[in-house]
Amino acid sequence: MMGRLPDSIESITQARLCTGCGVCAHLHPDRLQMADVPDVGRRPLPIVGVTGPTTGAGVAACPGRELSHPVGSLDDAPFHGEWGPVLDLYECWAADPVLRHRGSSGGVVSALAAHAIEAGIAVGALQVRASQEDPLRNETVLNRSREDIVTATGSRYSPASPCERLDLVEDAEGPCVVVGKPCDIAGTRKAAEQRAALADKVAVTLGIFCAGTPSTEATRSVVADLGIDPDTVKRLDYRGEGWPGEFRVETHDGRRASTSYADSWGKLTKHRQWRCLICPDHTGEFADLSIGDPWYRPVTDEEGGRSLVVVRTERGRRLLESALAGGALEGAPLSMDKLPASQPNLESTRGAVWGRVQSMRLLGMPTPRFRGMPSFRLWWKLPLRAKLTSTLGTARRIFVRGLKRPEFEPREVGSRGRTR
Ligand SMILES: Cc1cc2nc3c(=O)[nH]c(=O)nc-3n(C[C@H](O)[C@H](O)[C@H](O)COP(=O)(O)OP(=O)(O)OC[C@H]3O[C@@H](n4cnc5c(N)ncnc54)[C@H](O)[C@@H]3O)c2cc1C
Ligand code: SF4
Ligand code: SF4
Repeated sequence: MMGRLPDSIESITQARLCTGCGVCAHLHPDRLQMADVPDVGRRPLPIVGVTGPTTGAGVAACPGRELSHPVGSLDDAPFHGEWGPVLDLYECWAADPVLRHRGSSGGVVSALAAHAIEAGIAVGALQVRASQEDPLRNETVLNRSREDIVTATGSRYSPASPCERLDLVEDAEGPCVVVGKPCDIAGTRKAAEQRAALADKVAVTLGIFCAGTPSTEATRSVVADLGIDPDTVKRLDYRGEGWPGEFRVETHDGRRASTSYADSWGKLTKHRQWRCLICPDHTGEFADLSIGDPWYRPVTDEEGGRSLVVVRTERGRRLLESALAGGALEGAPLSMDKLPASQPNLESTRGAVWGRVQSMRLLGMPTPRFRGMPSFRLWWKLPLRAKLTSTLGTARRIFVRGLKRPEFEPREVGSRGRTR
């Protein structure tokens, strides 16, 4: 898809095309710092005293602005390339009962990261976890042991910018695992294409399926709906300890409250950033392995969690086979049809994205460039009502929600150097 492409980080964010991955802040640490913009998400803000727009490496690596598969690379891919490169499909779970129980689905991401370190494939794993200072926010760390990895199990359905800490990978003494949402992994890959020092240190990338990132305020409002003051929360889990498990909070004075995964996600999803609604890659097409929920059949909280694993590259296949052979993972191959059957909503969303982007372009809005990511056929498969919602409905939404206006009031942030 071609459109008016913004040419600086500031114009990308103002046009609501930023995913919040943080890769531009990694590439321009003296100009940009990631910060949580209320009701929006994490955004790269100019550091006080920086003048002029940020262009160059960060723009080239930005996954919000552009995503593309090389011409012809998906010619032989299953599903007409609409699910990206798919070499094989597996259903797996962590052999370690702690990782499986605490994990979002089968604890497979955590088990793969731990196996990579213990088998000497990697020295660490770049992962997002709840901030130790403020459990309603997230932080990115380089975990170096199974004990560290346990602290990062589970999904954080709130803003996180793992790529802002790619410096930890670049400065590590050996190769690392990088875990992230599809946009985080695409940003990592694009940055590695520009920087040999980073490429040398990325052992393998693990992408988690992602339907979208809700704002921090969305989490606060789900907590408030449970009768808990968000400022008193000591620990917050979005799911896990069951499959899918419940949204659970615990306060400093020991009070606990919870609600179902369906109820919490139903509320959070209304607060996803706009860029997520025009995201064509919800399944980590640029990762070596991508992992989600095998929801091709009903599941219960009583059964042990399982994860769907999409093998995207030979490098990913080697890690998966090593983890299965080494006893870190259990599971087996799955027939390809279980991929769309597991995530029918993500398939229809990709169709709707085609219609939404056309509407944005017709209304003169800056649009991202997506190449080699077929989606028109999925739009064509949508029922008439969904086709109209994705086009005319989007046009209406653009005016009603004022989406042509900048996403937030520009402002500067505190200090030079990376946020720790
Ligand atoms: C915002 C969001 C939306 C999602 N939407 C879907 C969906 O529509 N369909 C689906 O099947 N799955 C979705 N997932 C993924 C799913 O929740 C599980 O993460 C996935 O099944 C892997 O489970 P696991 O038990 O193998 O991973 P675990 O072993 O629990 O490990 C999870 C890993 O994800 C990392 N992580 C958690 N939150 C974030 C974050 N916000 N940003 C970057 N990294 C993070 C952690 O650091 C950890 O390494 C979503 C996850 C997120 C964060
Ligand atoms: S998507 Fe990532 S690289 Fe692009 S502007 Fe946002 S934080 Fe920066
Ligand atoms: S929906 Fe797409 S753009 Fe949004 S956070 Fe997920 S992968 Fe990134």
